[in-house]
Amino acid sequence: MGVTLDLSRAAAPPLAKPNLCGMTRDELRAAIVAAGIARPEKARMRASQVWRWIHHYGVTDFDRMTDVAKETRAALAEAFTLARPEVVERQVSRDGTRKWLIRMAPGIEVETVYIPDVGRAGALCVSSQVGCTLNCTFCHTGTQSLVRNLTAGEIVAQVQTARDDLGEWPSPKEDRRLSNVVFMGMGEPLYNLDNVADAIDIIADHEGIAISRRRITVSTSGVAPEIGPLGARTQAMLAISLHAANDALRETLVPLNRKYPIAELMAAVKAYPGLSNAKRVTFEYVMLKGVNDSPADAKALVKLLAGVPAKINLIPFNPWPGSGYTCSEWPTIEAFAAILNRAGYASPIRTPRGRDILAACGQLKSESEKLRASARRRTPDAARLEPSRSD
Ligand code: SAH
Ligand code: SF4
Repeated sequence: MGVTLDLSRAAAPPLAKPNLCGMTRDELRAAIVAAGIARPEKARMRASQVWRWIHHYGVTDFDRMTDVAKETRAALAEAFTLARPEVVERQVSRDGTRKWLIRMAPGIEVETVYIPDVGRAGALCVSSQVGCTLNCTFCHTGTQSLVRNLTAGEIVAQVQTARDDLGEWPSPKEDRRLSNVVFMGMGEPLYNLDNVADAIDIIADHEGIAISRRRITVSTSGVAPEIGPLGARTQAMLAISLHAANDALRETLVPLNRKYPIAELMAAVKAYPGLSNAKRVTFEYVMLKGVNDSPADAKALVKLLAGVPAKINLIPFNPWPGSGYTCSEWPTIEAFAAILNRAGYASPIRTPRGRDILAACGQLKSESEKLRASARRRTPDAARLEPSRSD
């Protein structure tokens, strides 16, 4: 089931001005030189000034850059934009979780989720791709084929949009609501590493949004060769979507395991730059009833992780229509966690958040896709072809 682009609209895009909000410092400096707004020798200072307005104060209007000369502001506005992408839908869960559906371009829509009381204060779960190529069998996003990678600017725009909505400009030093960023939304971040790394450079910059790299976590389903480069380039925290401790089972859940089996994955994890007891890798393990949740599975997991500075996040499976899996029973999850705890691993059971607005792990999918599904439901023939799907 694929997502198609609306080519009638995509064919003739308006000549858009470059958006400064998603540029790295170097790109911003080069852009203002190329536009004739700053001479090369003055460009670093001018870029820093504009950078602070964009990333510390969150302005979306050049006229608010009050210490920039009026003519320069006009020249900036002539050549560039600071516009945010359109928020197509905003939902707030009973538990305070917020979800935004953001339209980056026609047919390019992603979901971003803010979860209060996670991390130091609250975590923003960002998407790195529209859809995903990897088809993990328990994941809703995996049923939406890849549309494209997000640009660095589109990743940063998710953070800026959340900050707008949370009223969190200028960037507070203390008492932040948005304190952590996790790349656990739609897509596989390590298939889009360049853009993810540029986005991390932008949101971690001390003169801007300033989210510490220690509070940024990148989750991968196991793209082993990109794990070392991720650490070297970003110094971000690493999370691995493991879900099974043996290859036979993991292959049925995460098909990528056929390409990068567990031994290769674990070798890459053990070599992750900076890994230590103070900087542990997180292993995510989705609890699927009767599939991967027995005491023997827990013991195999302990054996596999021996010697690795790790914590284990047990994620109760979040159901979605037609998935074919159910979540493990609560006592089973607790028994599983107890085995891990006895072996010395912190293994919190992640309380599902935002389930009522389909904002929980693995439930994200863009509205464009949902709308097509509902259109199919309205067509009796199509409905007969896909009777079990009702997203
Ligand atoms: N593609 C990356 C990052 C996004 S997925 C990855 O797979 O790591 C974020 C986490 O949610 C992953 O651990 C994923 O396995 C998990 N997940 C996916 N579907 C889920 C579901 N239905 N219920 C609970 N967790 C799920
Ligand atoms: Fe893609 Fe991650 Fe979902 Fe797997 S779990 S399909 S890698 S988003």
